Amino acid sequence: MFRLRSQILGILLCAALIVAVAVPMSGAAAENRLKVVATFSILGDWIANVAADKVDLQVLVGAGSDSHTYEPSPADSAVLSQADLIFAIGAEFEPWLDALVESSGTKAKRIVLTEGLELLPFEGHAHEEDMHHDGEGEADDAEHAHGEFDPHVWHDVSLVIKLVERIRDALVEADAANAESYTQQAALYIAQLGLLDGEILLSVDEVPEARRVLITTHETFAYFGARYGFKVDSALGVTTEAADPSAGEIAELIERVKAAGVPAIFADNVTNPRLMEQIAREAGVKLAPPLFTDALGEAGSEGDTYLKMMRYNLKTIIEALK
Ligand SMILES: [Zn+2]
Repeated sequence: MFRLRSQILGILLCAALIVAVAVPMSGAAAENRLKVVATFSILGDWIANVAADKVDLQVLVGAGSDSHTYEPSPADSAVLSQADLIFAIGAEFEPWLDALVESSGTKAKRIVLTEGLELLPFEGHAHEEDMHHDGEGEADDAEHAHGEFDPHVWHDVSLVIKLVERIRDALVEADAANAESYTQQAALYIAQLGLLDGEILLSVDEVPEARRVLITTHETFAYFGARYGFKVDSALGVTTEAADPSAGEIAELIERVKAAGVPAIFADNVTNPRLMEQIAREAGVKLAPPLFTDALGEAGSEGDTYLKMMRYNLKTIIEALK
């Protein structure tokens, strides 16, 4: 009996010693953790899911903020200068990143997640053809300003699975000691993404085919449309950087909304809803609750993770159009 008790005490003592030794070790490990920067909130969430507690993660453009028009601060430059890895979407979604990388003097490796992916082309304003602009030069300028390809790949969950695999591979390469953790975490997250993709594919059947049209502030749903079978149209073209449309363009858009026969159009969480309110009012349709498009929602909102934002958007789209 005494012997058993002393054995148990011995085990407890060993455990206590291990804990005592483990605490300062994990402190040291924390200092050596990979310093990872994500350009914007949605990308940050994917990385957090794969990296768990193995990296120090900083996100430049936070929840509810617009990457297209972001203006980096000196603090961002300091963050980059300390980084080991920088993850970006590319396709000119972060038009400010090159200058920021240069001014920070960072030696970090940059991983551009859409590089080599087959991207949808962006050919000026989405409604260029319908509007019969005769000034060819205008379309050329728009293309030049906004890049050749559409960067909004994250609205197609099957593409996000590919991006998450790239994140996993980059983390494994940069930090082989934690390869097993990155691989396991990525597998768990990819399984959740696979479920989400299937859920969206099945759920859109609730919207009658003729009403599968997403009219939004800027054209952020082209990949969603291609994957899940929606037509897309927008007031501003592919980025929020475009100047406000003229009265004539707004009148055209109102006519297109009426012609589309949809019961609702959509604003988003990174732009002022004023324009879409006006168009909805004058076209006599509903303005649906804002969708999460180019950023996560604030912590505690229905869009504070990628999985939640996609389910919220799905629910909102179905409710508004069915
Ligand atoms: Zn956008």
